[in-house]
Amino acid sequence: MDIHEYQAKELLSKFGVPIPRGGLAYSPEQATYRANEIGGNAWVVKAQIHAGARGKAGGVKICRSDEEIWSAADGMLGKKLVTIQTGPQGKLVSRLYVEEATNIDKEFYLSLTMDRGKERIAVVASAAGGMDIEEISAKDPDSIMTVIVDPAVGMQGFQAREIAFGLGIEPELVNKFERTILGCYRAFRDLDATMVEINPLVITKEGGVVALDAKMSFDDNALFRRPQISELRDKSQEDSRETYASDRGLSYVGLEGDIGCIVNGAGLAMATLDMIKVSGGQPANFLDIGGGASPERVQKSFRAVLRDDNVKAILVNVFAGINRCDWVAKGVVLAIQELEVKRPVIVRLAGTNVEEGRKIIAESGLNLETAENLRDAAEKAVAAAKQTPAAA
Ligand code: GDP
Ligand code: MN
Repeated sequence: MDIHEYQAKELLSKFGVPIPRGGLAYSPEQATYRANEIGGNAWVVKAQIHAGARGKAGGVKICRSDEEIWSAADGMLGKKLVTIQTGPQGKLVSRLYVEEATNIDKEFYLSLTMDRGKERIAVVASAAGGMDIEEISAKDPDSIMTVIVDPAVGMQGFQAREIAFGLGIEPELVNKFERTILGCYRAFRDLDATMVEINPLVITKEGGVVALDAKMSFDDNALFRRPQISELRDKSQEDSRETYASDRGLSYVGLEGDIGCIVNGAGLAMATLDMIKVSGGQPANFLDIGGGASPERVQKSFRAVLRDDNVKAILVNVFAGINRCDWVAKGVVLAIQELEVKRPVIVRLAGTNVEEGRKIIAESGLNLETAENLRDAAEKAVAAAKQTPAAA
């Protein structure tokens, strides 16, 4: 789960990470009010969306008067901001964060992520922070330094100082840097984050260290024990197909193609996506219905897949171990009858109770296509999708 910049900053500040003073605004009126509360003579108006690279897309504006704040806010609110990270459809801006402007001397990059291969936390830093970090890291990978932290031991002071020295931080600022890095680490650990990114982490002209931007993502599987994090969820920023499915306990990832997939087991679901691609088609989603899928769960899965208007054909691929093919078949028949599915459905069943399952499909009187194996199923689904006109 992702959260907004202002939420990440508020969390990080509780762990001792210094942030600029700021406030949230939902209207141009409120934005100017927030600026007056903060005081000073320069402010930054920042669009709050679950994506970065806002600066280059007009989502971060430095303002020096009420009028500038008003027009910056008016220009962003209610519009979709398209950045290189949002995809062409963009993300709706409904909240703004207004901050006191910071006098930047130097911009650094700092992030914490999981290194799954090493089973450790990777702390990544660079002296080339700011808006072009992706380009710089591609051209000059040596400018990026990584410190690996063992979560059982925790990040040590010397590791944070190693980063500060590596970045060439002046001696009198090393302590502030160390506190900031260790604060980010504790936030990462204590809140079950999967990512903390501060870009830029700046040294100000006044000699302070400040997190000017902040991004955090959290482990969905740990949200049950982090109610204060899960209440920060902003569904309006998520793929509505994925929100619908995850609210119903389905493991679903939206994709760009036109073949809806209903599969049991993550591995088989991945193999199904591969086979569709090999057969010349494009999957519309990843969906793992899990083991022991009741007819009701299969029906739920159909509902989730059918919410995607791009879907032209549906491929049901089940290898029943714990599952039972007759339950799945019942679910397919129920779903097609109740949801009045008009699009072609291809069913491939194998494993426990496969004969009973096939019988239910054959006797349903519904226009269902069956397949013998995965390749056959994928090819039939691709052919069916090609023949189906786009949904109205
Ligand atoms: P992003 O583009 O979505 O990553 O948004 P950021 O919050 O990182 O802002 C983009 C850029 O705007 C930063 O890299 C800074 O260079 C600049 N910026 C943001 N806040 C301030 C500020 O208070 N003062 C100055 N001078 N520049 C700022
Ligand atoms: Mn940034």
